[in-house]
Amino acid sequence: METSHQAEASERHVVQRMRHDSRRRVLTVTDIISLTPKMLRIAFHSPELTDFVSLGADDHVKIFLPDGAGGTLMRDYTPRAFDTAAGTLIVDFALHEAGPATAWAIQAKLGDELHIGGPRGSQVVPDDFDWYLLIADETGIAAIGRRLEGLRSGVAVTTVIIIDDMAETQSISTPAAWTPLWVCREGQPLGDAELLRKTLERLELPAGDGYIWIAAEASVAKTLRGYFLDERRHPPRWLRASGYWLRGEAGAHENFG
Ligand SMILES: Cc1cc2nc3c(=O)[nH]c(=O)nc-3n(C[C@H](O)[C@H](O)[C@H](O)COP(=O)(O)OP(=O)(O)OC[C@H]3O[C@@H](n4cnc5c(N)ncnc54)[C@H](O)[C@@H]3O)c2cc1C
Repeated sequence: METSHQAEASERHVVQRMRHDSRRRVLTVTDIISLTPKMLRIAFHSPELTDFVSLGADDHVKIFLPDGAGGTLMRDYTPRAFDTAAGTLIVDFALHEAGPATAWAIQAKLGDELHIGGPRGSQVVPDDFDWYLLIADETGIAAIGRRLEGLRSGVAVTTVIIIDDMAETQSISTPAAWTPLWVCREGQPLGDAELLRKTLERLELPAGDGYIWIAAEASVAKTLRGYFLDERRHPPRWLRASGYWLRGEAGAHENFG
């Protein structure tokens, strides 16, 4: 439920930030699909989802898991899709080697319970830009999927997504004019930032006002943010970059603006 409302004015576009009542909900696993070899889609049901609010494509919920020592740990995940009337929520888990959230998803069975909190807020980017550029690793694909599905018909959107190999590509339905660029790590000696940058350097940005969104490992997101601000002179207010995880650190989340 919306409790407060703040608008950030820019010349032509208004990004809205909303706060929501944050409450804990208990969900039950109702379906598990291997979307790709390294992306697990888990569907949940709960009567407590009837008043679930998520207005921004890159909103996140906290998932709560036992830490093995009597405490609780939290991880951030994107509500990939939800239906309040049906009481359903879908979360896509990118599978990597370590981590309790990933381990929970791999071992999940139908009927298992998961406690979640939030979203505590939403940042709603208006769909009045001339073009969009969405850049991510696997952890940002859910937010990109939501954004693609919600964009207006025919608007130019390019996605640049780094994945292990072509088996990780996803098809997503969108009314927008979508150019998907998949960058594969396979067989390349370079890191994510360098590989993404190589693709981005070849990218001609369309004329008009554009919104750039970046979500990846924190150092990658920071590097690419610097590239667009310093070298491509993109207006900072039309760029959002977030570290969705931090190499070597558990449960990290960094916003670079
Ligand atoms: C706003 C937001 C939304 C997010 N949405 C999603 C989503 O929808 N789907 C999704 O899969 N992830 C998403 N993430 C990323 C996810 O929260 C992290 O990957 C999280 O660290 C996973 O928790 P874990 O318990 O598996 O690993 P952790 O215990 O947090 O980390 C264990 C180790 O694994 C490393 N690690 C963490 N993530 C990765 C990774 N992706 N690849 C390789 N190594 C990693 C860490 O550096 C650490 O060394 C989101 C993050 C944020 C901030």
